[in-house]
Amino acid sequence: MPPHSPQPARPARPAESAGLDASVAPVPEPFYCRRCRRALNVRLNNRGLIVEYLHAAEQRGQPSDHRPEPAPVTEIPDPIIDCDFCSAPEAAWIYRCANQITDARRVTAQVIAVGDYQTRHHAARVRRTDTEHAFTQAWGEGWSACDGCADFIEARNLYGLIGRVVEALPAKLTRGKHLMRTRGQLHERYSDVFATLVPGRGRIAPGHPLGIWTHPTGKTP
Ligand SMILES: [Zn+2]
Ligand SMILES: [Zn+2]
Repeated sequence: MPPHSPQPARPARPAESAGLDASVAPVPEPFYCRRCRRALNVRLNNRGLIVEYLHAAEQRGQPSDHRPEPAPVTEIPDPIIDCDFCSAPEAAWIYRCANQITDARRVTAQVIAVGDYQTRHHAARVRRTDTEHAFTQAWGEGWSACDGCADFIEARNLYGLIGRVVEALPAKLTRGKHLMRTRGQLHERYSDVFATLVPGRGRIAPGHPLGIWTHPTGKTP
């Protein structure tokens, strides 16, 4: 039997089927807080171990009055699923994208020239800033969205989504010079979400915090 089969090679799987498979596979379970039943984000050290949990709402600038008590979402009776974008209560959809991580660094030393310091004191110019890895923020693969934010996601309207989210953020993140920085961070984060979105979305329903996933009914994206 010659190794070469006379039959034509099987056609390669269409590119989109990989995405479809991914959309059917369960979304990895996010952590929720046992106490307030709301979503948590995780921070990792540089070896990839979880070092801290943070309420997702705190990440969006809202205060919290207790420390997170993490548990997988399926162990939380009746979890409260807010929109991961604008914080609106009762998110309707789960989207899935590549896990996104952001490295945060902390300043360990600032070096200034001695002469500079003697003549200018606090106005001395910083010659070098040393930093070390502080933590890695993991944003997770699943993003919950309210109907309003989902409309912008479906339309792939990045600036529309950023505009909507900025309106909903606390003033301390959008006041004066903070606005540019906040918009920049949202742009970076949501660009990655849009770039890695898998087709389809899951509808959140009672007892289905990870969403009920269906194949996309529309034409090819
Ligand atoms: Zn909590
Ligand atoms: Zn929203």
